[in-house]
Amino acid sequence: MTEKFIKNEQLNFIKKQITFIKDSKNKNVPKNVLATVIDLANDKIMDLFPHLSDEQSEMLDVSKLKTESDYEQYIQHLSEYLLPFPIMTEQQLKKMFPKQKKLKLPDLSNIDHRQLTYLSWNDLRSNRKIIIYELEGKMVGIECEFSSTTKKNLCSFCNCFGEVSQISTVTKTKKTKNPDYYRSIGNYICADGSECNKKMTNVDYLEGFLKDSLGI
Ligand SMILES: [Zn+2]
Repeated sequence: MTEKFIKNEQLNFIKKQITFIKDSKNKNVPKNVLATVIDLANDKIMDLFPHLSDEQSEMLDVSKLKTESDYEQYIQHLSEYLLPFPIMTEQQLKKMFPKQKKLKLPDLSNIDHRQLTYLSWNDLRSNRKIIIYELEGKMVGIECEFSSTTKKNLCSFCNCFGEVSQISTVTKTKKTKNPDYYRSIGNYICADGSECNKKMTNVDYLEGFLKDSLGI
């Protein structure tokens, strides 16, 4: 049996490609156009994984899928290969924020770790949002100031339109000429972290944001 190899955001990306193919079918586009749509989707999916085994390529191949139930089974099957978000203990989480003596922790048993690209929760008492992510093999965490008011806008992380709230964090990257300079970064992100995780299709922005915030 193949090891788990698909990340949450990659499965979301694949689902998006499948929706696109199904939409094209429903619109009855000409056969050659549909074939191109499927080829492109296949290429984009394969591009997500630079080191695929033959078995994995076979599993990801969308070109052989025909019926609605083929597509459903395809996603169902891939879901079995989802890499869960690393399970962290309360101690491990607390250790990431040594200065926060009263850090509020989430109810970890209530979180579906399979559908997570990043873990986040709000500490409403201190108006903070905490974000945890596995960056280049290492678990990192940041605290952001967080506004509880929401509005409809694009989320910086998942790049989807929805109910967002503002977070801001101070970067640790100092300007060389002025060592006291710290830049504050503001972002609108989905107010509901679990919804955001269902919509994440790539991590470029999130990783850039975390690197800026952490000064790495
Ligand atoms: Zn989002």
